[in-house]
Amino acid sequence: MDEHVEDLLSAFIDHELNKKERQKVESHLSVCPACRKELEQLRAVKTEFISFYHHIEPPDFHFEKAVKAKISQQENRLEMNYHGLIWFFTLCVLAAGFTMYFVLRTPFYVGVNIASALVNICASSFHIALSIFSAIPSLFAIIAIAASVMLAICLWLVLNLLKMKPLKE
Ligand SMILES: [Zn+2]
Repeated sequence: MDEHVEDLLSAFIDHELNKKERQKVESHLSVCPACRKELEQLRAVKTEFISFYHHIEPPDFHFEKAVKAKISQQENRLEMNYHGLIWFFTLCVLAAGFTMYFVLRTPFYVGVNIASALVNICASSFHIALSIFSAIPSLFAIIAIAASVMLAICLWLVLNLLKMKPLKE
């Protein structure tokens, strides 16, 4: 048996041998199980290596360009998010405004109506008190006190009404 051809096997797989070397390897392989096994293993390793290598994406020739594109893409996305957020908040504020308007509108008008009614009652009471006072001067003190008390009560009611919050959580 002639000498083994392990050193030539890699080149043999890659078709890098000349005709003479190729024939030498082939004739040796036909008689040497050890070198055939070596060839199989080498082929397996090469196949695995190639399949592994193909899974690695080769670096982009325009790497810098690609990075810049990616960055601007990211910036666009951020800007889009920002605009979306502004729109979202605007809509929220508008929705909240409308809700507040519709929820508070009725209590607010009711409150104003009650307040104006109370003021009217106060004015009427004061007017009546003045009329009675002018008719019967001796009752001045009592009527004046009563009117003052009524006025104070009305004022207190109005102040409380103004302090009152229409919407309670
Ligand atoms: Zn051999």
